[in-house]
Amino acid sequence: MRPEVPAPALRLGFDSDALKSNWQALDRLSGTARAGAAVKADGYGLGARLVVPVLHAAGCHDFFVAHWSEVPDLLDLAAPGSISVLHGPTTDAEAAFAMACGVKPVINSLDQVRRWLNVGGGRCDLMVDTGMNRLGLPMSQIGDETLAALDIDVLMSHLVSAEEESDFNAVQCERWRRACTAIPHLRSSLCNSAGIALGSDYHGDLTRPGIALYGGVPRADMASLIRQVVIPQAVIMQVREVAQGETIGYNATFTATRPMRTGTIALGYADGYLRCWSNTGRFHAAGRTLPVLGRVSMDMTVIDLSEASELKEGDWVSADYALPDASAATGLSQYELLTVLGRRFGR
Ligand SMILES: *Cc1c(COP(=O)(O)O)cnc(C)c1O
Repeated sequence: MRPEVPAPALRLGFDSDALKSNWQALDRLSGTARAGAAVKADGYGLGARLVVPVLHAAGCHDFFVAHWSEVPDLLDLAAPGSISVLHGPTTDAEAAFAMACGVKPVINSLDQVRRWLNVGGGRCDLMVDTGMNRLGLPMSQIGDETLAALDIDVLMSHLVSAEEESDFNAVQCERWRRACTAIPHLRSSLCNSAGIALGSDYHGDLTRPGIALYGGVPRADMASLIRQVVIPQAVIMQVREVAQGETIGYNATFTATRPMRTGTIALGYADGYLRCWSNTGRFHAAGRTLPVLGRVSMDMTVIDLSEASELKEGDWVSADYALPDASAATGLSQYELLTVLGRRFGR
């Protein structure tokens, strides 16, 4: 028998009530449309197997992943027909896999239409490109007659600048409506998280929030609706006394101007706590704020415990990681701040 692996010294604090509340708030803001959920990239780094059951229990019945490799993780958690794969069938093997699992491919081109029909077709979604110029059926092809052979559930498009007051939002909305008129389908969908705030013209039948479910605030007017969902937490591995004039960490970027009490925590840039937090990040525990001292290393970060004499080795500390603030502090997007979080976190 293999020895049992000790509990990890870092974990993602996860507030499932906040996740549920965020989905419900976005579902309400979607008006007569229902909210689905983007759970690609392992649920934006939180763990798809963690978030999908919470969302499902909240009432969510449409889940979006990007890659085919993300499907197996979800098959025992959600009905296959409720899972859509955004990249679509780019090979025959992917089309056959979709068919075998019963998940919906999001068809993105006439090539993908043919590939899907070749393996037998069946219920699918369709992405129309209304201006992103990335993936999706071009507007010039919405009248193509091969589309009539598809059994389309969700006819979707994706907004370029939903988080801004951009005139292009209305342009895309008009194109998406035109596509919806031209192509038979069951449900229409245009909005990511930020798009939901643009109002009922944009809602269609289904919205596809991602970042806001997980605590991201894409538009200031959504701040009051959205709660923080995840907090990186780590154990204090070692407490040290550092004399005045000593330096801390690689390249000696911090010098103690007084005798200090410091804590070394088991969290570093390999876990997604990136070097941009060096000398600027903050942790907290027991009501104290604990600034990061010196460089963040691969597996460790040093924090100031001088004002927190009650904290000792083995105690847990939590990073300041409210996504809008963390984004402003680092220049990383709220999306990056979540999706960099590494595999060593206990989830
Ligand atoms: C990622 C994604 C979403 C979710 O976007 P957020 O900005 O995270 O809300 C919705 N639709 C598509 C097609 C996506 O790729």
